[in-house]
Amino acid sequence: MADTTKSKSLFEKAKQFIPGGVNSPVRAFRAVGGNPIFMQKAKGAFLYDEDGNEYVDLINSWGPMILGHAHPIVEEAVKSALSGSPSFGAPTAREVEMAELICSILPSVERVRMVNSGTEATMSAIRVARGFTGRDKIIKMEGCYHGHGDSFLIAAGSGALTFGTPDSPGVTKGTAQDTLIAPFNNLKAIEHIIDQNKNQIAAIILEPVVGNMGTVLPQPGYLEGLRKICDKHGVVLIFDEVMTGFRLALGGAQQRYNVRPDMTTMGKIIGGGLPVGAYGGKKEIMDHVSPVGPVYQAGTLSGNPLAMAAGLAMLKYLKANPAVYTNIDKQTTTLVDGLNGQIKKAGLNYSINAVGSMFTLFFNDQHVIDFDTAKTSDTQTFAKYFQAMLAQGIYMAPSQYEAMFISNSVDDAIVNRILESSEKAFAQLK
Ligand code: PLP
Repeated sequence: MADTTKSKSLFEKAKQFIPGGVNSPVRAFRAVGGNPIFMQKAKGAFLYDEDGNEYVDLINSWGPMILGHAHPIVEEAVKSALSGSPSFGAPTAREVEMAELICSILPSVERVRMVNSGTEATMSAIRVARGFTGRDKIIKMEGCYHGHGDSFLIAAGSGALTFGTPDSPGVTKGTAQDTLIAPFNNLKAIEHIIDQNKNQIAAIILEPVVGNMGTVLPQPGYLEGLRKICDKHGVVLIFDEVMTGFRLALGGAQQRYNVRPDMTTMGKIIGGGLPVGAYGGKKEIMDHVSPVGPVYQAGTLSGNPLAMAAGLAMLKYLKANPAVYTNIDKQTTTLVDGLNGQIKKAGLNYSINAVGSMFTLFFNDQHVIDFDTAKTSDTQTFAKYFQAMLAQGIYMAPSQYEAMFISNSVDDAIVNRILESSEKAFAQLK
């Protein structure tokens, strides 16, 4: 067991000044017990904590670090942007380049607006969808997480699910009643809701591949079915690709599954590790955004030069190097195959959901297809496995209800190291 004295004392101090000692709830390790680890630096596939311990990183800052940490291309770009100014509050060439690049990668996006987080992107997207359609209600899938905007903290996944607060206090009844909830992977439920709320639904928003109740894949025909329903009823289809965008393929889940949404929300990878979000879509919809149209949305630091530089460096690298996707998908497949072999050997029935470089090992005998099946997972055994992995220097997402990610810094040796640790962790569960 590694010495984590410095992390422990930092956490004690942090709790005196920050709610729960952390600036985002899942980081507190409450769902898995023990002490959160305070990180000091990172390189490639490895994190180093305040006590100098090394960890293989399976979180990658919850998605953005697809190339691994401290990639020289991103570092150089940020340094060079910094020597200009960290912020102008006026338009810059980098923003134009970023918008053009995003539109060239995602054919469904004809206009795009940069914001500072995934939360801002989803909040703004539904406002625009409401302004465009003149309707108030949205449909959201149970267990999907779209950031911490009021309209989304209803049957929410990620930390809200982990801590048993999928419906957050503080969201007014008025707001909550405009968010209608459907189970993921269930087209009949959507048809029923639309039937009950004729001409009132502005948008359907979903993670096309869910990462925030753990990884959950769309069943064949589901995304296509949503597309048809939205076309039939004049509903704006929003894919929240904050997590899946530029990860499941350069063109995200919409490329991988070949279904075009009307609007897309983005974040994580497009910031190269800096705080960025974006929302975009069809011109006729985005033309409702101020100053072209009346739907207001703004930001002091939107299109920030440092964030644009980091994101542009990352996206340009990904576009020029499609082998990244071949490698991360291959390493993930090897890892998942190895884990499945261990599960079988241990006489267990756990299931793994994986696509591209995203995966979740569910401590669950059922195949997880939605919120209800995800919730039957054995979170206590997950916590034991998590701690056994952490003790061996493998840094997993500290909750059963999260996706894990493989970065392009992961090689065969690292996959073997994860598998060896996992074999020991499974042995300790007996
Ligand atoms: N949408 C999805 C699918 C996410 O996974 C997240 C964050 O994890 C968000 C939106 C919110 O993004 P942010 O944390 O940058 O506000």
